Amino acid sequence: MLPATLDTSSQDTIAAIATAMGPSGIGVVRVSGPDAVAITQKVIHFDAGRRLEDRLATVVQLRDPGDGALFDEALVTYMAAPNSYTTEDVVEISCHGGHTAVGTTLNALLGAGARLASPGEFTLRAFLNGRIDLIQAEAVADMVSARTNLSLKAAREQLGGRLSRRVRDIREQCLGLLAHLEAEIDFSEDDVPAVDRHQAKETITSIIFDVRQALDHADQGQLLRTGVRVAIVGSPNVGKSSLLNALLRYDRAIVTDTPGTTRDTLEEQVDIDGIAFVVVDTAGIRGTADSVESEGINRARKALFEADVALLVLDCARGLEESDYAVANLIIEHGLPALAALNKSDLPQQLSDEITVAIGLDCPVVQTCAIKDHGVEPLRVALSDLVNTDNIQAGNFPLVTNERHREALRTAEYHLGASKKAVVDGLPAVFMG
Ligand code: GDP
Repeated sequence: MLPATLDTSSQDTIAAIATAMGPSGIGVVRVSGPDAVAITQKVIHFDAGRRLEDRLATVVQLRDPGDGALFDEALVTYMAAPNSYTTEDVVEISCHGGHTAVGTTLNALLGAGARLASPGEFTLRAFLNGRIDLIQAEAVADMVSARTNLSLKAAREQLGGRLSRRVRDIREQCLGLLAHLEAEIDFSEDDVPAVDRHQAKETITSIIFDVRQALDHADQGQLLRTGVRVAIVGSPNVGKSSLLNALLRYDRAIVTDTPGTTRDTLEEQVDIDGIAFVVVDTAGIRGTADSVESEGINRARKALFEADVALLVLDCARGLEESDYAVANLIIEHGLPALAALNKSDLPQQLSDEITVAIGLDCPVVQTCAIKDHGVEPLRVALSDLVNTDNIQAGNFPLVTNERHREALRTAEYHLGASKKAVVDGLPAVFMG
């Protein structure tokens, strides 16, 4: 059952700030519900005889419903039911941005009879009122949290219903087959012909193909949504931090701090080919030589545990040391796709590209000089290749970016496999549904 505050059956009118708080040119407060217009009328002042009209933006003065004092000028847009985001009467008030104007507008609306909306309640209403399905409702959250153009594109496709339509197609094919099987079971005494087993097998095989196509790209879809975590690991002083800085410098325009930065690691986001790479630097260790080394290994272990990809940095101006082998072994233990950067390529070289074979890690190698920004573009290309971004961009099946969707597809694949086996084994229809 829905929590009381999320139950729209009471048809109350809700209001909330729709834009981020902070100094800004405008801020939008949204109102939705049967009394949206009546409530808004109490907080606006405009010329006598005028009224809010569907799909027209109107310039108004905002006033406190208590003492009638005017506090801002705003643009009010009314979208009459059912042609609105929630399918209810919706009013959007674009007032000046910043905490005070937006907060005062919201308070005025609450004072005039609106209820403060719970987080996501406008979208919940759109879902409960049948305007969007669950996949689309989830896509709204993905849209607003999209980190790159590509993740925005995937979310927009889902919001537009592309994934929903493909899932509906698959479901309809399943239901069609199921209806024939049920008819065969229920009316076996009558003249209902048995389902053609060869045809049934073909249909199930084709549905399984569609489900697998979706699952094939689900890993990448999920990476698109969550970002790819890259652990930069290596011995102390090989140039891990310098390499991270070089990657960030290259990407300066779109670098953002990633929330959740831990005390002992540094996380930064880099956009490569539309994918958000969250690069985790394990450097910055201080202490005695021994403690530095063991602490380094501990941090590398932790970073690798949480990573999707490992970037091993080696100092090619010195020979391999015990700690290089130890870190390489950690990557192997975690079974992660890896990439090696032979850093300090400006200095006389002790290591060659074949070095990764020597340390047992068969992976692509890129020569870099972090302090001169050499090799940074090849490093980006190699990182991008590692997660196969081409697959993400090419997919002809809409991308599955959400763990719930993936789980549902896996379950479907399992049951379809069981049905197909029942057909192949010549079992009666009752075992095929
Ligand atoms: P970390 O401990 O692995 O993060 O290593 P740092 O990034 O702190 O670098 C250690 C030292 O190596 C610093 O003095 C850097 O300036 C230097 N360094 C890093 N990359 C290069 C490089 O490509 N060439 C040279 N010559 N020095 C580098």
